[in-house]
Amino acid sequence: MRDRITDYIAWFIAKLIKPVYKNREAIMSKKIIIIFASIFTIIVLGVSFANSGKAQNSLAKKNIELETVDALQTEIVKPVAYDTYKNSLEIKSDYKFMNIDQIDSAMISAYAIKINDENKVYLKTEQDAQDVLYNLKKIYISDDENTEIVKIYFDENIEINEVYLNIIDLKNIRTADEALNLIVKGTDEERKHKIKSGENFWVLADDYNISVNDLVKANPEVVPERLQIGQEVSLIVPEPLINVCTVENVTYNEKIQYDVVYEDNANLYKDEYRVKLRGAYGTKEIEAELVKKDGRELGKVVLNEEIISEPTTKVVYKGTKNPPPSIGTGVFSKPLNRGTITSGYGMRFHPVYRSYRMHTGVDIATSKGTSVLAADGGKVIYAGWKTGYGYCVIIDHGANLTSMYGHLSSINVKNGEKVYKGKTIGGVGSTGTSTGNHLHFEIRKLGNDINPNKYINLYNYY
Ligand SMILES: [Zn+2]
Repeated sequence: MRDRITDYIAWFIAKLIKPVYKNREAIMSKKIIIIFASIFTIIVLGVSFANSGKAQNSLAKKNIELETVDALQTEIVKPVAYDTYKNSLEIKSDYKFMNIDQIDSAMISAYAIKINDENKVYLKTEQDAQDVLYNLKKIYISDDENTEIVKIYFDENIEINEVYLNIIDLKNIRTADEALNLIVKGTDEERKHKIKSGENFWVLADDYNISVNDLVKANPEVVPERLQIGQEVSLIVPEPLINVCTVENVTYNEKIQYDVVYEDNANLYKDEYRVKLRGAYGTKEIEAELVKKDGRELGKVVLNEEIISEPTTKVVYKGTKNPPPSIGTGVFSKPLNRGTITSGYGMRFHPVYRSYRMHTGVDIATSKGTSVLAADGGKVIYAGWKTGYGYCVIIDHGANLTSMYGHLSSINVKNGEKVYKGKTIGGVGSTGTSTGNHLHFEIRKLGNDINPNKYINLYNYY
């Protein structure tokens, strides 16, 4: 039975291998043929099976590699994959089909800006690095035609180096704009605060434990007094990685202060001054060399000065006359040296209220700033704003008499001050209820207004 099966297999295999089978008896015994054929079959099957296993295995491995690479890529590229950062996308596609071993050892060429022997900022190309340094300098180049840049340099030692980065470090590569921002601010960090009602730099300084000075530095374009609700301010104080120094030649005009000289004048009392000639500033053109760091002036050397116009000396009269005693004499003098009476004491149609009203004083019109003089000596009992009268002064002359001066543009005396007859107590104006520059002059007896003409006939003067 065994022999028959053996014979049959031998016959079948031998038929497959016809040339051998034909000479089966001449060559070898049946058993040897079976052994050879079996070995051959096993080898063929084994090799093909091994190959198919290997193929599946390598396919699986390849998938894993791609997935891993993709995962890696996503993880690495995401932090830098800003819309604007197209470079990283290019890098991603370059490396997409590399196998994992190659990715691990892949070193990507980049360019570093080396600041004082330390690679600090990485860019994709040398051109990018050069652009960053160029644009950094450009920030501090004034486009003012009166400024000439003599020298511009970095305070630090700066070099551009080619470096090789591992793909893990790709995220350190910045665009030229990002790099410039980092260099100027010293950080990528952004901390903003939106101004709320009632907040200002002093409040923020307290809340964030930062000095007002630093807030001003962090927001050079913001005027602290003009903060708006909803406005965003930065809380990051810039500390540039690279400081830009400039030496500039500038020309500018400067005012020349005028001198003041005094001339004695016997018509004025000793505490009185009057301008005889107004002073005027002169002008000089200055050429100077300015040394600046990051736009802040560190020093200045004046190279040349040229006077364009000389100043005009101011001349002031100084009184020499002894003033009368600061007490009431009972005799009033004119409160203005010149003027025109526009409204007398008594009932009148009021120009502002458009109705008949009692006018409690006399209006004398004259130009703004004309000296208003105390009509008699006494003590100032009111100096300030009064409804209707505007800025006004009231002087107590004793003997139950007071005088009042209204609508002043300025007041020269203080409450409680003793004044002599004829002292300048203020200037004519139009403050309060008034239609033009004039003095409202009033005399009161026991607190009630009376017609001033009972004490001084103002129509003799105006
Ligand atoms: Zn009046």
